[in-house]
Amino acid sequence: MDSKTLSSLYDIFQEVQDKQDWKAALDTLFVSLRGAFVFDNVAIYIVDPHTNGLDVVYARAVGRGKTAEAESAWGERVANNVLLRQKMVLSEPAPEGSEADRLAQASLLGFPLYIGAKLSGALVFVRFGGPQYLESHIHLASLQTFWAAALLERRDLQKARAELDSVQRQMRLQDDFVSTISHELRTPLGFIKGYSTSLLRQDTSWDEATQREFLMIIDEEADRLTRLIEDMLESARLQSKTLQFKFSPIRLEALVRDVTTRVVTHHPDLQVVFDGPPLPPIRGDGVRLSQVFENLFSNAIKYAPGSKLTITTSLAGNKVRIAIADEGEGIPEDFLPFLFERFYRVPGERTVTGTGLGLYICKQIVMAHHGKIWVESVLDKGTTFFIELPTDPTL
Ligand code: ADP
Repeated sequence: MDSKTLSSLYDIFQEVQDKQDWKAALDTLFVSLRGAFVFDNVAIYIVDPHTNGLDVVYARAVGRGKTAEAESAWGERVANNVLLRQKMVLSEPAPEGSEADRLAQASLLGFPLYIGAKLSGALVFVRFGGPQYLESHIHLASLQTFWAAALLERRDLQKARAELDSVQRQMRLQDDFVSTISHELRTPLGFIKGYSTSLLRQDTSWDEATQREFLMIIDEEADRLTRLIEDMLESARLQSKTLQFKFSPIRLEALVRDVTTRVVTHHPDLQVVFDGPPLPPIRGDGVRLSQVFENLFSNAIKYAPGSKLTITTSLAGNKVRIAIADEGEGIPEDFLPFLFERFYRVPGERTVTGTGLGLYICKQIVMAHHGKIWVESVLDKGTTFFIELPTDPTL
């Protein structure tokens, strides 16, 4: 191989390796080597381990012919043949026949694709008309196949790594959860125990106002414990998908206004403004949806104390959308992707208690309604939670 060829091969290698996305890398690989090996289409077929059928995971047209992956049945016969024989398959039109016939006919070249040393599929090139494949073409095509297999292996490794990261994060969250939850359970229990022991003391008599104050604290802390246990059970049921939903026609704005009234009764200083058009009805579980909004209100009160809340309704096609915006400190961007995960709490110095279950529960409820929930946040400006739910045209 002369040094010029070697150096252009090196450049191509660099360019392919630099592409993070595996499809983009394959595109670069096939397009840049096409000068030395002419073909019209290329497709990669991978055996589906469950059905044993062939899936087209990649297809690309650089010349004449079809493009879409769904239309890549053209190479399937050769791919099956390659898998059967476990070696290269060359399928060329018969040399006899007119020039026009030859142009319409396809020459196919298929190679076995080994991913992680396992025969996983086949890579097939097609050329319409044109001369026969030369040995040097076949070598180059075979090199591209090795290379493509390496890229697919890289893709699988990246996927496996991302899954592993997510499992590890989940395990870390579980660990944190155990310490959070024991703290969360101990705090109200500590209050209940402390104040009831004080009230029961024989050697001290408390005046009526003090007794009442102690009893109120006990009552509130018992409520807190109940909420906490309910959240934990609910999250467990949502995770195991055993929570039942009762769907009925719902007016979302009316529901949010009801929740607001309840919240404001407990927090008279909270300022809430409404904006946006009335919304068409949806089908939903009123109790569960109220719980979602109660949770968002409670978070805004906890994490953006003193802030005004703006609730904006809007319609996006056949979906209704409600945004709840506070004007609090906001959440650093890096933490936003994890907010709806079970047990996740934004790290850092914190005085506010919580379990990291609230937003997870919200998300599961919204998903059970075929809706979407997401968050946008700007530091020192505030946080907005969005909920989008499909309308029901039959209502
Ligand atoms: P919890 O409130 O029990 O910690 P959530 O799942 O309700 O759990 O919320 C997860 C985290 O998201 C909270 O710990 C908090 O850090 C952050 N968060 C939620 N809502 C807001 C908000 N309105 N402003 C700032 N941070 C918020």
